[in-house]
Amino acid sequence: MDNQIEKIVDKYGRVHDYLRISLTERCNLRCFYCMPAEGIELRDKAEFMSSEELLAIAKVFVELGVKKIRLTGGEPLVKRGFDDLIQELAKLPIEIALTTNAILIDSHLDALLKAGIKNINVSLDSLKEERFNTISRRSYFHKIKENISLLLENDFNVKINVVLMRDVNDDEIIDFVEWSRTEKIHIRFIEFMPFDGNNWNLEKKVSLKEIIDKVNFFYGADKVMRIEDAKNDTTKNYQIKGSIGSFGVISSVTNPFCSTCNRIRLTADGKIKNCLFSQSETDLLTEYRAGNPLKELILNAIHSKYKERGGFADFSNETVRKMKNRSMITIGG
Ligand code: SAM
Ligand code: SF4
Repeated sequence: MDNQIEKIVDKYGRVHDYLRISLTERCNLRCFYCMPAEGIELRDKAEFMSSEELLAIAKVFVELGVKKIRLTGGEPLVKRGFDDLIQELAKLPIEIALTTNAILIDSHLDALLKAGIKNINVSLDSLKEERFNTISRRSYFHKIKENISLLLENDFNVKINVVLMRDVNDDEIIDFVEWSRTEKIHIRFIEFMPFDGNNWNLEKKVSLKEIIDKVNFFYGADKVMRIEDAKNDTTKNYQIKGSIGSFGVISSVTNPFCSTCNRIRLTADGKIKNCLFSQSETDLLTEYRAGNPLKELILNAIHSKYKERGGFADFSNETVRKMKNRSMITIGG
């Protein structure tokens, strides 16, 4: 069957079968590394995909061989009609996953269970309430912790995304790893990445090497096991011997995983980004509304993808100053 499906392949032979769709640019948190301090421009609702448009566009991607769709944002659970939308998406022959800050999980739990969603990534950058509130500029720490417990009680596979930033939360590496020893969670330390409005500089990121050195020093290298990475996984995975959970590092800055990248991003306003760092976008929503076919546009958008980092040579402070990109909240992480 598989060879009858047209595939989305770039000029380096990378097959793209994983689509991340941003459902909205809105969010109930204001994480400073994602949402610029001045906020984002509020745009007319008509500029964004409705659920019907999103479904129709998603189906085209599935016809082109997409096997997995992750719903993200902004905060995907604030999208009006989310519960109905996932029941419709669940009818497609794909795996559906979700990335969320978990504040609204309890209100959507039944819908998530009914749609058969199993894999949920939750962002939580600190285990200290006050610090979490400072990072997210809101006060939902306990709600999030309760909802993570609710997900675990209901047997979801839960990954916790932690964006590590120097002198912000890099002193919590061991606390997070300790959490993975007693709970069935997978902690993912993510290197802080540069986007518009997040005051990034190279010195603020915490590298894979630094994280692993700290963990080895604390537990002893013989207790830190390297565990298998899934195909196209962006995470290098580890487990402390005897733990229920595990942890990993996504080293997008110091060790980009571009050579095995299979991801396509569709923004809430219906534009393809063929890389998180691409400077160009392909507007599918306008074409869809004009009644034009989308397949060629999608194939061309991915074919023109750069080999690495959206065409940038490195992530030096000098290079990053030249990047013109959206803020992360308007891309969909
Ligand atoms: N609101 C949801 C959430 O926070 O999980 C989904 C959207 S959020 C943009 C998706 C992921 O992107 C989160 O795990 C977040 O931590 C990550 N992210 C946002 N800005 C980032 C940055 N500058 N560097 C690395 N990861 C970032
Ligand atoms: Fe919202 Fe997620 Fe961005 Fe935080 S990381 S501001 S929760 S979209």
